[in-house]
Amino acid sequence: MTCYGLFVTLVSLSACATARPEADASASGGARQRLDAAIRFLADDLLEGRGTPGRGLDVAALYLATEVRAAGWQPAQGVGYLQTYETLHYSPADATTRVLLNGHELAPAEFIFHNRGIDPATTPRGHHLLFAGHGVVWQERGVDQLAGADLRGKAVVVLKGAPWPFDPKGSALAPDHFIGKGLQAMMRNAAALIYVTDELDARDKSSEMRSLQVRSRLPVAMLAGGAGSAAPPWAPVLAISPAVFDRELAKAAGGTYAEWQERLVSGGTQPRPLDGRVEIRIAAQTSRTPASNVLALLPGTDPLLRDEWVILMAHYDHLGTREAKPGEDRVFHGADDNASGVAALLEVARRLAVGAKPRRSVLCLLTSGEERYLLGSTWYTLHPVAAIDKIVAYINVDMVGRSAGSVSAIAAASPDMATAVGDAGARHGIGVGPPRQPEIRGTYYTDEYPFARLDVPGVHLFTDFHGDYHQVTDTADKIRIGELVRITEVIETVAASFAQGAKKAAVKRPEWFLTPD
Ligand SMILES: [Zn+2]
Repeated sequence: MTCYGLFVTLVSLSACATARPEADASASGGARQRLDAAIRFLADDLLEGRGTPGRGLDVAALYLATEVRAAGWQPAQGVGYLQTYETLHYSPADATTRVLLNGHELAPAEFIFHNRGIDPATTPRGHHLLFAGHGVVWQERGVDQLAGADLRGKAVVVLKGAPWPFDPKGSALAPDHFIGKGLQAMMRNAAALIYVTDELDARDKSSEMRSLQVRSRLPVAMLAGGAGSAAPPWAPVLAISPAVFDRELAKAAGGTYAEWQERLVSGGTQPRPLDGRVEIRIAAQTSRTPASNVLALLPGTDPLLRDEWVILMAHYDHLGTREAKPGEDRVFHGADDNASGVAALLEVARRLAVGAKPRRSVLCLLTSGEERYLLGSTWYTLHPVAAIDKIVAYINVDMVGRSAGSVSAIAAASPDMATAVGDAGARHGIGVGPPRQPEIRGTYYTDEYPFARLDVPGVHLFTDFHGDYHQVTDTADKIRIGELVRITEVIETVAASFAQGAKKAAVKRPEWFLTPD
């Protein structure tokens, strides 16, 4: 479809979506169609997986700004609905990454490097090493294999595995898999993770290795001016093979990969500095391109409360596209992640606009750059439209389209928020429970993080991971619209309660919630 055809679609969508809010807004029938239509639009090939930055992303931003405007929300910043920031980005396919361990250059087949937040112009970068065995930190299981170590500025070397059998189907985000291990190191001020795995050239790869391969090929994007200490603690990851470990590090570590795996079966090891250095050099043609958050305001009407804010948040971006053979799907559609959350918030926005006038001000914050490590939400907290300490609650909606009859309310630091969601769930006939895998520290992996690190009370609604997560198969036809309608009603109820003056939830950081300096 040409861009003109696209424009017609935009107009007709918003016309049908807004013409009859009063009548249809409460009747789930209309809501079903509106939710389904919005998800199908955002997940369409034409939006090219809404990668940040990109044309598909900008088209999605225009569509969303059109929808909130049509629903009667005001621009939050007095000028337009878009909060624009500059990204610095490049494609790994056009870059050359060179890695030196103790001065010895590794062959390209000996490593996979996944960049997160390193501007190529600031390389070469060198880091001293620290060895931490498996490097697992899992408080609920009484394991902290980084205890007592000073990780500041170090590249932390950890081996694949844990003091229990490795789960090849386990989420890469879990504490005993590479992203979880990287997170624990970074929140303790490390600079990078060196992950030693026997899967680099394995034919059958575990889900974590497939995840690393997908992520390491996706465009790299960061805030052009950096984010300083606001940057989320995601580790740049260098995965190396056991052969490289044995050749370059075994002497300093006091054993080969196999010998260490043997030793670690019977317990961890004291993390300690390794006599060695890693140097990373990235040669890449970077570009600077704007991307936008979509902001819309429903102003508060109560003279005492209108300077307090409720934030409704969902990221509208996704992974973008991938290289694919002819006939293969190259678009990451992101129907559940996170067209579902965006569609739900658009519906809530329509309903709040025709409901009782809010006493507090309500901000609808649709972020971009979430899949590039929280760029839009980080930018928003660095450039908020209202003081951060004036936020009484945020509701983050990320992946709510694949419910099997319930939704998780993740609110590690403010359980009262989860209770509020639970009460609303009971009212609207959908189960609300804690996350199925609390050890996956969701707070770090979603747009919550920039707010949680500033102790803003909030909750994340989530209907769990599934086999299509971050795959091209995350398509609109798999969305559970019936449950999504009820989840939308839950969000509306909780949002309206805070907009009308519900008590601000208390915040108490869980012991595992560390933030880098
Ligand atoms: Zn998401």
